[in-house]
This record gives sequence, structure tokens and C-alpha cells, in this order.
Amino acid sequence: MLRLKIKSNKIKCKVCGDVIESTSVHNFEWCSCGNCAVDGGTSYLKRAFRTDDPEDAYEEMAEYEDDEEVEEE
Ligand SMILES: [Zn+2]
Repeated sequence: MLRLKIKSNKIKCKVCGDVIESTSVHNFEWCSCGNCAVDGGTSYLKRAFRTDDPEDAYEEMAEYEDDEEVEEE
């Protein structure tokens, strides 16, 4: 399976407004209010959040390389 290569792995917390970015696979970053977190760097997008619905927790801000694809199992 192919997917677009991740350029930046980030989200914006809808509670505190922080934009947090995971820059490496083991870089697990929480926003300042502790409502949501990102992980996975440019390898995969992992999100953690405290609300039931991710729509209420954060705004997705991930960016992808336009023309680069990586193979994924
Ligand atoms: Zn927050």
C-alpha cells in the first residue's frame, strides 16, 4: 500500500490553541493544556486526545509531500 510521505506531523488544539508537532518517531508532544498530543514524526500520524470525538479535540494540520510516496504494509 502506498501513501503520501509525511512532511509535517502537527495538529492544533481546539482548547488552548497550541499548534504541536512531532518531529521524530518517538517525539510524543502534548499541548500546554494536556487535551491532545501528537506522535510518530514523519513515519506515521498518531494522535491522542481526551474528548470522545477527535473533531472536538484538535484541528488536523498534517502536511504531505506532493509527489513522494512511501510503501506501507
Ligand atoms: Zn490544548
